Parts: sequence; structure tokens; C-alpha cells
Amino acid sequence: MSEDQKSDLQTPGIDGTPTADRGAGLSYPFSGQGTAKTGRPGDGEVMQMRPGVFWLRMPVPIPGLDYINLWLLEDGEGWTVVDTGFRSAQLQEIWEQVFQRHLQGRPITRILCTHFHPDHLGLAGWLQERWQAPLWMTLGEWSFGRMLELEAMPEVPADVIAFYRRAGLPEAQIEAIRARGYGNFSKSVTPIPRSFHRISHNDRIRIGAQDWQVIVGNGHSPEHACLYSPDLNLLISGDQVLPRISPHIGVYPGEPDADPLTQYLDSLGNFAHLPADVLVLPAHGDPFIGLQTRIAMLRRHHEIRLEALLEALREPHTVPATLPLLFKRDVSGHITLAVGEALAHLHHLMRNGLVTRQLNAEGVYEFRRSDRAVRAAAE
Ligand SMILES: [Zn+2]
Repeated sequence: MSEDQKSDLQTPGIDGTPTADRGAGLSYPFSGQGTAKTGRPGDGEVMQMRPGVFWLRMPVPIPGLDYINLWLLEDGEGWTVVDTGFRSAQLQEIWEQVFQRHLQGRPITRILCTHFHPDHLGLAGWLQERWQAPLWMTLGEWSFGRMLELEAMPEVPADVIAFYRRAGLPEAQIEAIRARGYGNFSKSVTPIPRSFHRISHNDRIRIGAQDWQVIVGNGHSPEHACLYSPDLNLLISGDQVLPRISPHIGVYPGEPDADPLTQYLDSLGNFAHLPADVLVLPAHGDPFIGLQTRIAMLRRHHEIRLEALLEALREPHTVPATLPLLFKRDVSGHITLAVGEALAHLHHLMRNGLVTRQLNAEGVYEFRRSDRAVRAAAE
């Protein structure tokens, strides 16, 4: 991933594509609850999900982006917070209201972030300084965030531009990428703590009276941590599983041959042992029941796109030519996200031997169905 993704992280759509089925088959047990009967806590408010587990929401202060859900867990003499919100003075004020009204005089004693995206990690540095609390993350997420924060530079590097040229973007869009600059991630986070406490897949973490299992997902981000409590029958899913949108899965210049869609689909298998009636607390959208249904829907969402691509790639296509197959809306305002998502699907098909890639005379990649895919289709 690259600087280009850093700016993407601040644009609408980072959390993905609305899925056709719009959450059908899921239930939202808190619908209609709360002080305003919205089923959601207002700014500075919390709603209890289970004993000792509270939901708070923070606006994402970018036009077009909605809210992120954060979680406050009773933790003995203190509190653990899960995810922190985007860097913004407005969010710091909302946090101060939460501290005054809802901590019952106890301190924040641990900050746990699911992944490095700035709506999740943005205020971790500030919270750590405010409370002297340690930051808990996976190594992949902490180090990726630290790297991006330190990588800010005045001009977009040549390899980033070359990546988007090979992806077939027209010159006007290349210029727009240049104009966005290369340092936006560092502006969207308070300084990321230089020391952290590592969590890993399958760790058991004691928070208050409960054991939580760390379940790592991949593909949306390098080593995304989810938290599952069997006793509470509760999953904090971050961005890995969302109720209404498909999490963004993209290829970026820092790893141009990445195959994040295979990683994402494979890592959904890490949730297979969870009960069908587990309450899922996602980072975007409302708490819901129906995890296994939702995972099946997300798999199908990608399968439909892979099938459409394979059908169209009887004829060679550049990446921009594939975009109408994948997105029903106009994506020109979020072109690097859209290209990243298209490449993720194309690389997944390449990994499976169904698609090949070739540079054309203009130095742009063209993708087409492989002989193997043609033979398979004929059988
Ligand atoms: Zn994310």
C-alpha cells in the first residue's frame, strides 16, 4: 500500500461497496432502543450491549462518510477502549464528554485498535497521552500504521505514478493523484505510539471478567484483529465483517502483486466456529445477529463479480474497462479505490490460473481469460 491509499482512506467509500442484498436475513436487536429510540447512541452517549460492554459512535469528519462504532469495555479498575476515531478536535470533545459521563470515575487503562485505518487508530496517540494507557494491536497493523505515518514526503514517488499508468488511468487522473500529494495519512492520526503491546491470532485476552479470543482477518488490512467472547456470545468485528457494505479489498502500489481477495476470503474461515446467534458489533452499521449468513453473503458478493469478470474477459480488458462490471455507481471520484478493488478481483482470478495479464503497446496491463478457463467453460 502507498500514500495513494492514505488519501483514499479519507475519502467516502473506503469501507466498501454497498452489497446488493442490503443486510437481508440479518436482525438488529437494538433497533428502536436508546434515549432517542434511534437504536443508536447519540454523540457523547453510550448504549449497553451486554453487561460491561458499551457502544459509542463517533462521526467521521469527512463529507460523505458516516459514523464509526467504538466499544468501551469494563476492565476491573479501569476501562478498555476498542478503536478510537479519526484525528479531529470535534471527536476529542466527544471523548471528553464520554470520560465525564460514562467512566464512573475510573481511568482508561488499555487502548485496543483493530487495524491501522485512521478512523480506528487516529486518536490512539492522543488517548495514550491523555490516560498513560498502553496500545494493544497486532504487529502487522501497528507497524503498517507507523510506517505510513513516517513515510510522508513532498512529492508522489515515481513508482506510485508508474503503478497507476500500468493500471491504465488516463493522464488527467494521474495528475489528480499527483495533486493529492503524499503525506495525508500522517495528518489523519495523532502520533502513533512508538511502543505497543502485541496481540496475535488465537490469543486469549482477559478484559474485566471475560476472556476474549483474538481472531485475525486479512485482506481489508494486513492483520486485522477481531475480538470474540464466548461467554458473552459477542464478536467485535471491526471492518472485517460489516452488515450493509462489503469491506474494501484493494491492491495498492506498495504491494503491486498483492492478492488480498484470496486472503480475505480465506480468513473468513477463521469465523466458522462462531455460533450463528453471536451478536456482532461491527465498526460501521448497527449491531446485528446473523454472522454466518452475512459471511455467506459477502462470499457470494465477490463470486458474482468474479463470474462477471471472467465472462467479460473473453475479450482483453484494461482495468478501467472492468470497472462498470464491478460498480453500478460512478466511481471516478474514488478512482484509486475502484482500481484497487478491481485489481484485487483480477489478481484472485490470476492466482487461480483463470486470467492472464500482459502489457500492451501503450505499457498498460490487459487482462484476459486463460486457456485453462476457456477449457473449463467448455466442459
Ligand atoms: Zn478499515
